[in-house]
Amino acid sequence: MRKLNKDELWSSFLEILSTRIATVSFNTWFKDTKLVDMTDGKLVIQVPMTFHKKFLNDNYYDLIEEIINSITGTNYDLEFVIEEELEQEKQPATISEEVVHKRRNSNLSDKYTFDNFVIGDSNRFAQTAALAVAEQPGKIYNPLFIYGKSGLGKTHLMHAIGNYVEANSNKTVLYIKSEEFISDFIGINKKDDNNSNNYDIIDRFKDKYRNVDVLMIDDIQFLAGAEKSQTEFFNTFSTLYDSNKQIVISSDRSPDDLKLLEDRLLTRFRWGLTVNIYPPDFELRCKILKDKMAGHEVAALVNNEVIEYIASNCESDVRHLEGAITRLYAYAAMMGPKEINLEFAVDALKDYLGTSIYITNDIQRIQKAVADYYKITIEDLKSKKRNANINYPRQIAMYLCRMTTEETIVKIGLEFGNRDHSTVIHSYEKIANELKTNFELKNDIEQIKNKIVN
Ligand code: ADP
Ligand code: MG
Repeated sequence: MRKLNKDELWSSFLEILSTRIATVSFNTWFKDTKLVDMTDGKLVIQVPMTFHKKFLNDNYYDLIEEIINSITGTNYDLEFVIEEELEQEKQPATISEEVVHKRRNSNLSDKYTFDNFVIGDSNRFAQTAALAVAEQPGKIYNPLFIYGKSGLGKTHLMHAIGNYVEANSNKTVLYIKSEEFISDFIGINKKDDNNSNNYDIIDRFKDKYRNVDVLMIDDIQFLAGAEKSQTEFFNTFSTLYDSNKQIVISSDRSPDDLKLLEDRLLTRFRWGLTVNIYPPDFELRCKILKDKMAGHEVAALVNNEVIEYIASNCESDVRHLEGAITRLYAYAAMMGPKEINLEFAVDALKDYLGTSIYITNDIQRIQKAVADYYKITIEDLKSKKRNANINYPRQIAMYLCRMTTEETIVKIGLEFGNRDHSTVIHSYEKIANELKTNFELKNDIEQIKNKIVN
């Protein structure tokens, strides 16, 4: 096939893209873009404003890459520039050949770093362990096994580890999804009878997986059922482990729940450190939203009520929060509001959030009422402090959450500084028992209930 030139490639791309995204998004983000360069495996795309650069990078990078790949069969790196930068760019690029080479082999995305990973109670342990591993690969926790539901930051942390290692040492990193490991492995077993060079391929496979200092396998649960790949992974694991190379594994469930993996593999996983990432609590959801919006032109128009509204209604995972921001921005780009208030947000997100509540959820309301009543802070309620003047109100607050809301005990525990659900049950039972005889407490609780705003 004849190779497309820049303009042809870009117009094909725009044509396909226009069928994939809403017209409004297309007009806002792509109408005035231009492909200005396509050398060295990189596409340089000119955009109208700095605003577009960040937005396209954060929200459309993968889609653009995918479409370009479908047209050209090649994976290009993407760079967004504004006109002024093109003027300066005429000078030679500064990134050395070697760095580019290294990056390409490691499969790392520089979008995900420790710097932009927001920390809260639900992910602090995982983040700390990841950083420790990044600082001392192969030395402390090996393997590091990170598990948690989808969209909670496992992949982000793995890339963060890899980027950190590459930036701070000469060590080599390989990040791979377990599906890719399987397909690589299947590749070496497709014996081509006319080709006696199969050893080459095997060597290349071994070279790829065993000659690294840090090997990271994402979503290992997909290895379930692929028995031969598991055996090969076991061998790879053992080789690396024996030479003190770092292994990082992620999964959507704990090693104990990975029933379809070989026992000896699971045993190996337990040699190291296993960390769980939980869904973010309300406080962390607000923090993540603020962090992700920071520096964005539209963010200046957003008030706190909007943050709390989104945080109250996107409870499941971080990807969901990001989706809400994307929609809010797209809606803002379309409507050009002077201010993004609650009403605007409710309207922008009505289809995305489904049935939603307008103010912060019940647990927050109860926490606020209890904290006010006892003249302590919500942070105190969530803290590890165990002195009676805090512990007692905390038990009352948990009791009220259990009594008056539909929330699960796991969720309640999470919103109280990531406490175990057994603590919630204990608090509930203790207060319920005390209420049978303590009329003063009964009165206190009545008053608190009256203070819980509806
Ligand atoms: P997982 O691999 O657990 O399914 P990802 O790592 O892909 O989840 O995270 C989904 C999205 O949420 C990514 O864009 C990631 O950057 C973002 N994300 C998750 N946790 C955080 C966090 N603590 N701070 C900032 N962004 C986060
Ligand atoms: Mg992932």
